Amino acid sequence: MPIRLLRPDVASKIAAGEVIERPASAAKELVENALDAGATRISIEVRGGGVELIRVSDNGSGIPADQVELAFERFATSKVTRAEDLDSITTLGFRGEALPSIAAVSRVTLSTRAEGEEVGARIDVRDGAVNRLEAAGAPIGTTISVSGLFRNFPARQKFLRSVRSETSRIQTVVTRYALAYPEVAFELELDRGKRFASPGTGDLREAVAAVYGLKTAEAMLEMAPDEDDAGQPVAWGLAGSPSMSRANRSYVSFFVNRRWIQNRALGFAVDQAYHGFMAERRFPLAVINVAVSPDEVDVNAHPSKTEVRFRQEGQIFAAVQQAVRRALIDFAPVPEVRGVGHSPSHAPPPATSTSSSGFWPAPPFVRQDSPGIDPSSPPIGWPDPPVVEQSEAPVSDVAPAPVVPKNALPVLRVLGQVQSTYIVAEGPDGMYLIDQHAAHERVMFEQVKAEAVSGEPNVQTLLEPVVVEVNPELRDLVDTQGAAVAALGFLAEPFGGDAYLVRGVPVLLGSADPAQAFVDILELMAEGGGFESWEERAAYSIACHAAIRAGKTLVHEEMAGLIRRLEACVQPNTCPHGRPTMIHMSSGQLEREFGRR
Ligand code: ADP
Ligand code: MG
Repeated sequence: MPIRLLRPDVASKIAAGEVIERPASAAKELVENALDAGATRISIEVRGGGVELIRVSDNGSGIPADQVELAFERFATSKVTRAEDLDSITTLGFRGEALPSIAAVSRVTLSTRAEGEEVGARIDVRDGAVNRLEAAGAPIGTTISVSGLFRNFPARQKFLRSVRSETSRIQTVVTRYALAYPEVAFELELDRGKRFASPGTGDLREAVAAVYGLKTAEAMLEMAPDEDDAGQPVAWGLAGSPSMSRANRSYVSFFVNRRWIQNRALGFAVDQAYHGFMAERRFPLAVINVAVSPDEVDVNAHPSKTEVRFRQEGQIFAAVQQAVRRALIDFAPVPEVRGVGHSPSHAPPPATSTSSSGFWPAPPFVRQDSPGIDPSSPPIGWPDPPVVEQSEAPVSDVAPAPVVPKNALPVLRVLGQVQSTYIVAEGPDGMYLIDQHAAHERVMFEQVKAEAVSGEPNVQTLLEPVVVEVNPELRDLVDTQGAAVAALGFLAEPFGGDAYLVRGVPVLLGSADPAQAFVDILELMAEGGGFESWEERAAYSIACHAAIRAGKTLVHEEMAGLIRRLEACVQPNTCPHGRPTMIHMSSGQLEREFGRR
């Protein structure tokens, strides 16, 4: 449909007055435009909290060159023509207000080429007025750059929060849309190279993995739409397992006809569904889609379009509540009963427990004796993060304490793996069996110590900081040993009561659930692992938490990488507790055993 000015009678029916309040509102409108244009790839670049720059590039339909100027007129839209259209909106935008509103408070450059056009167009708009409009080559799609937002609007600037906070609002917008549109590959690039990317495979679980981490995604329960309900609103998506509870509601996202919305009633529907499954004052993580006939929902109720009105709210409420409940009843895992002597985290999590306590009840210090069935094995940070980075640790700086002579570790050639637990290798004098867990623990232990000593831990900043509640004992620990915790690479700050806001975690933890990792590692530190100094306790805790488990099948490159890193260790032959990392069967021994000698 071409872009046209809405007739005044239609325009007057619009909940107008859309204001670009903050950078995230602009980012939201631009992403919505890209989605409405049918883009399958959307890249967003954000600088200085979006005030310096928001650039959104899409591969959507583009804007015909002769309509580019019109797009910046108020109430110019290609999505709606008649007043009746407003009763059944199928696009995210419909008011023709976003571009002019954004252009009124910033400098905008837009270049675009529509499908079927030879050349594209480029327009510069400054503080609401067209500065330049010219033909220009461009790939099919649209790139819009918004810079100097609110530069001439000090009153608006006053309401902006820190760069970090504005950035994080934009991240929220982008990650929510990545969840709503799993078939679209989103890419968000922030200051200092921070990045978020969704794969765009169309698989919701993969989108969830990109936003919340792989472990979380894998543990989500499928909410299947109810097939019988022809013509009724349907709800589907992914609901978090009850044990992965969160401290607030911000992890429940609702999408109505793929629009991200806020709705208290639907929030209660989810609470009801989880009732009895989850401790009081804990909240789930869920991604819930609702499909409802467009004429049953009024998206024109509120300027920001994030609040909608349902004609039959009760039906939607029931659809959501039942779909979530069904998922919980059908799929929620039965808590596993284990042998004695395990960590107390097997008990149901108390109300103040961590975000996902009990779900991966990583038993500290309990070695795997049944390979492959341990649901607790934490996501390993290996071989990703890259081996290069890891071996750069200045090993010579490690262990200022009694220097244990490095037991010469010969160059080993990896042959294979036994019981997914031991690596078989050949050396100059026979065969070596290496315990993969013990070896990786050693490697990590030394690396963490080296990073802590250097004062430059490798930190992975989180796109979405997490609030973690800890018990008073752990809080005391952070209060007194904050330096040791920070030296590991945790960026955590007090967040009232027993809560911390975790903004970054050690790179070594890889894709581990950051909240869970934070608590696990504090618990391990508290237990001490037999180490005297807090530095060693800390290093051991990470090593123990993140080291690859027994029972994990490794590919050749992973095994070879591990052995190479072990070779670089100061003390490669034992794990941090002194147990052997490997046993050796010499050529002579082999010969004797086979009666050759
Ligand atoms: P609305 O989205 O409500 O129609 P906007 O001001 O956001 O209003 O955009 C005006 C018009 O410009 C849209 O209707 C659409 O035709 C065109 N447009 C804006 N952004 C894009 C884009 N990224 N790709 C294609 N067309 C776009
Ligand atoms: Mg729009």
